[in-house]
Amino acid sequence: MKRRDVIRNLSILPVSGAVIGSTFPFKETLSVPAAPDAKRDLFKELGLRTFINAVGTVTFMSGSLMHDEVVDAIVSTSKEFAILDEVQDKAGEKIAALCHAEAATVTAGCWSAMILGMAGVLTGMDQNKVSRLPNLEGMKSEVILQKKHRHGYVHAIEACGIKLVEVETAEDLEKAINEKTAMLWFLNFAANDGKIKYEEFVALGKKYNIPTMIDIAADVPPVENLWKFNDMGFDLVCISGGKALFGPQSAGILMGKKDLVAAARLSAPPRGGIARGQKVNKEEIIGMYVALDKYIKTDHEKEWKMWEERIALIASFARRINGVTTEVTVPPFANHTPNLHITWDSAKVKITSNELQERLRKGNPSIEVMGGSGNDISLSVFLLKPGQEMILGTRITEELKKVSV
Ligand SMILES: *Cc1c(COP(=O)(O)O)cnc(C)c1O
Repeated sequence: MKRRDVIRNLSILPVSGAVIGSTFPFKETLSVPAAPDAKRDLFKELGLRTFINAVGTVTFMSGSLMHDEVVDAIVSTSKEFAILDEVQDKAGEKIAALCHAEAATVTAGCWSAMILGMAGVLTGMDQNKVSRLPNLEGMKSEVILQKKHRHGYVHAIEACGIKLVEVETAEDLEKAINEKTAMLWFLNFAANDGKIKYEEFVALGKKYNIPTMIDIAADVPPVENLWKFNDMGFDLVCISGGKALFGPQSAGILMGKKDLVAAARLSAPPRGGIARGQKVNKEEIIGMYVALDKYIKTDHEKEWKMWEERIALIASFARRINGVTTEVTVPPFANHTPNLHITWDSAKVKITSNELQERLRKGNPSIEVMGGSGNDISLSVFLLKPGQEMILGTRITEELKKVSV
């Protein structure tokens, strides 16, 4: 539309009062925004339970809480327009530089990063192929992965129409490669389960000139994971924004080789490819960049010490109950932060894991912890707000005390 037409069309819009007849740009505002109601409690209005999260960054519990800096970035960038592609270009450049990648783009989560990365590998810059996905006629159609790496997340790449080929050894993998092989896929949290380790996997990709992708969705800390796999030579790295990076839950990052990231973007908004439904708005794209930047600048050692102090406090509370023992564990992947495992002697403390979980859930404030196998629970202190460790320690001890004999 020409500017003249825009103005003509605007003049027939059903706007009120003084605006009609004025010239572009308008000097008057169309409506006076209502004063924000500071007291409006939307959780209450909607009847939603909120809780202290001692479980970790799980999707069904709404991931993680965005840092204030991220929320501020979202609010402050919501006041002006920008060209979506330019937002992706500029935020992508910064993100790529922070993570030692050639290029990066913000996606609608790690799942979407995998769909987009896969799409880019399959189509390259061929617009015709982009418009045909998931119909793979004339394209490669197989992705090789290790048997132990096959978890539900592979559905993301399967959504592009490819077939998965499972292998166990490097020898199997070499035998499975053929002219239809599009990509090799690696699941970071299964790294210790599969026989083929990172370097060998990447080397195989290079040897046969087949792109490699790694899913590291929830795998910071350690912070080095943000660049480790780019440095190692994986062609595409996918991570969640709304887990341990404390960005928007609906965002994630696809990073890696420049040509592949550029190809991936052809399938995403604002264009109408296979990932058109996985839109990330400019506020979230910028919020994702801010979250990543903040995460990298965090004092990670100090943070780890703080988690240990929280654990020690809760453990000291729980151990006041006769028959209770505690242990600190650190999962090797996904929420790689110290957890507290609390176990009780069922002869002395008469409650099951599920019952304790339920009592904490129904208490005030409501608390979500990880269940156990009958006489134990586990908790993560990763997502606690300052002071919540005290509430946790008090509430757990209170409930255990009630049922101890
Ligand atoms: C959470 C998760 C995903 C999906 O990530 P989203 O950011 O929720 O889209 C993919 N892979 C793994 C291993 C995950 O843990």
